[in-house]
Amino acid sequence: MNSVRHTPVPDQVLQEHDENPVHLTDLVQPHGVVLVLEKSDLTILKVSQNSHDFLGRSPQHLLGQALSVIIESDFIDSIQHCVNQAGDRSHYLHLPIATPDGPAGFDASLHVTDPYIILELEPAHQQTVDELMGTQHSVAQSIATLRSISDLKTFLQAAVEEIQALTGYDRVMIYQFDEQQAGSVVAEIKPEQEVSYLGLRYPATDIPKIVRDFYQQGMVRSVPDLTASLVELVAVQEHEDIGPMDLSRALLRGVDPCCVEYHQNMGVVAFLVIALVRHDTLWGLISCHHPVAKTLPPYIRSACEVLGQLIAAEVTSKVHEDELSYLSKLKSIQSEFVSSIAAAQDFKQALIHPQPRLLDLVKAQGAAVCMDQDVTLIGSTPTLDQVHAVIDWSLTENSGSLFHTDCLSSHYSTAVDFKENGSGVLILTISQLRRYLILWFRPEVIRTVNWAGNPQASIQMIEEDDEQQMVLCPRNSFEKWQETVEATSRPWKDAELENALDLKNAIVGIVLNKADELAQINLALADRNRELDSFAYAASHDLKEPLRGITNFANIIVRRYADTLDEAGVQRLQTLVRLAQRMDLLIDALLKFSRLGQAELNYEQTDLNGLVQNVISVIKTGREGKSPPPQIDIPNALPTVDCDPVLFAEVFSNLINNAVKYTNEPQAVIEIGCYSPEQYGEQHPRDDLPPDFSSPIVYVRDNGIGIRERHFDKIFRLFKRLHERDRYGGGSGVGLTIAQRIIERHGGQIWVKSTYGEGTTFFFTIRYNRFS
Ligand code: ADP
Repeated sequence: MNSVRHTPVPDQVLQEHDENPVHLTDLVQPHGVVLVLEKSDLTILKVSQNSHDFLGRSPQHLLGQALSVIIESDFIDSIQHCVNQAGDRSHYLHLPIATPDGPAGFDASLHVTDPYIILELEPAHQQTVDELMGTQHSVAQSIATLRSISDLKTFLQAAVEEIQALTGYDRVMIYQFDEQQAGSVVAEIKPEQEVSYLGLRYPATDIPKIVRDFYQQGMVRSVPDLTASLVELVAVQEHEDIGPMDLSRALLRGVDPCCVEYHQNMGVVAFLVIALVRHDTLWGLISCHHPVAKTLPPYIRSACEVLGQLIAAEVTSKVHEDELSYLSKLKSIQSEFVSSIAAAQDFKQALIHPQPRLLDLVKAQGAAVCMDQDVTLIGSTPTLDQVHAVIDWSLTENSGSLFHTDCLSSHYSTAVDFKENGSGVLILTISQLRRYLILWFRPEVIRTVNWAGNPQASIQMIEEDDEQQMVLCPRNSFEKWQETVEATSRPWKDAELENALDLKNAIVGIVLNKADELAQINLALADRNRELDSFAYAASHDLKEPLRGITNFANIIVRRYADTLDEAGVQRLQTLVRLAQRMDLLIDALLKFSRLGQAELNYEQTDLNGLVQNVISVIKTGREGKSPPPQIDIPNALPTVDCDPVLFAEVFSNLINNAVKYTNEPQAVIEIGCYSPEQYGEQHPRDDLPPDFSSPIVYVRDNGIGIRERHFDKIFRLFKRLHERDRYGGGSGVGLTIAQRIIERHGGQIWVKSTYGEGTTFFFTIRYNRFS
């Protein structure tokens, strides 16, 4: 089995075929005369060799002559008028021409191809008034019939029937072009005994690009007899070297041999093509075939042109209506979706619940939501590993917001492995940097394409100058030839792509709004914190005064009235003094804590080795006499960082003091060190750290009593202690809260890991530079 996407026509062969200048020719069809005139003075420069048959004058008698030798001056004026108005348009006139046998009527078509005028003359068809009225009436009826049909398929079928009724052609078909310019027959009327072409596909090579471009101008081309020999244009002597004319808009342009053979292989002798142009692109063609020669009078050709334009306009509006109704369905899903994401607390959950919603948005069977390394799969998708690989591929290969294909394996060959679920993919990149993407998948739809003849058969090898050359030739067989297309999904529609892009915009909008809200909340929170700090500071400051009074009075009572008090009274007063002193301690701690929230940080490049050594020596001095002194190791040099050294000394002092205090061992063994994020990740789960973290992590480890995991968060709360008041040397329960506040004000984080009974390690992150 093979895939149509890999039809091995080398690009160069295709390009040559596409650009073959079939419009530059001096060969014309023999059922009329062609005159090429000088635009300025209407001198006859070229004329077709058959002039004698129609005008009674041979080319020698016409070349170099003024047009006025055969046309009366009144009509010369009309021709001049048309030339002045012409632009890109063709003009149709009825011209009486002077022949040796007297005047003869001609249907003339005239257009300008600078610097020449092409005048085409066909003997006037002597239509009766009845014929004309009849045609007018039937065109009006066709228009009314066609306008009343809303469904596109029925409309196209009615269109071929109307065209057949108007022209009398044996077979009338409508081709529709796809994105690859291959055409398929979407409507057909034909003689009963003939084989049907309905549903067949024709490769893009069947109509070269240059020909498609003519049709794109909306023209009608009629060839009444393909078997008739073409006649040549001959030139006046001094214009012999002007080369072949551009006859792209000429009705009588000769049919190129490739096209003749192509039609003859289908048993066609006369054909008529009416272009269907939608939004300036060729949407399709109405193609009429006849097995014997068939001449169409000009008034029928004009009627075909009118009907063609109407059909094209109706197709445009019907396709548009279909797209619009699908789009509005998709849009309503989307607006419901977006508003629920906007209202949700958890953005990702809102994206993936309820699951079908994300799939319905673009009519996919599977989806993957990727937020950094976290990928959630919905519906039928490739495996997680395969999706990760597609994401990696897309991030390196596709730069835009949106990538879509209905055949992923033709871009990314590994995709063949998961074609069942992922032949088609639509990738929406929300943030390349943060690796935020949404992928939608469509399954493989194995389908059979019915080609009109094997498209490969139009490529043939010919021998030229002893070399094999590849050329495109008309196919001999138009019998149905089947090909199976694999690894391909249903294609993505414009409306679906638009919906995906709109989702990205909505998400970006929502994220920006949320960031705005968060920034406002943070500002309010910072204000509230400052207020609380200043309140705590003022309150604790004011409390110190009366507390000092209480302590003093209690001391005075104990000293002066010791004789009058019994022992229990004295003890109670002494307890009162102790409690007041403890309260004083707590108030001092609170003051220090609240001052921290308000103080400016005095950043300095600080070598942590010197700073930690100072802290250690202060601690050791304070513990002199208590044996044995703690063992403090610093295995590797600590970094130099940007921080407030006074506050960092406070952090180390609190952590090292705790490490010394909270132990049952005869000697505290402490290690102070530093990890890179990678070293940290080798021993601990990375989710402790922000995803893009690159700064050092400092630790203080001890062999102390350890902390149970359920207390890991609590110990950072203000005044929280895990022990009775005086155990392990007592304390205010503020040290860790202060350490945390200092670290966070420096933009870092602090956390603890511990095994109860074995020891504890405090970690904190720290930046080399406060702007990094
Ligand atoms: P304080 O030491 O003044 O009580 P902290 O805020 O420094 O206050 O510590 C709070 C509590 O955390 C301590 O009371 C103690 O129970 C526990 N803790 C702190 N450091 C350690 C440690 N290294 N080992 C075991 N427990 C600790």
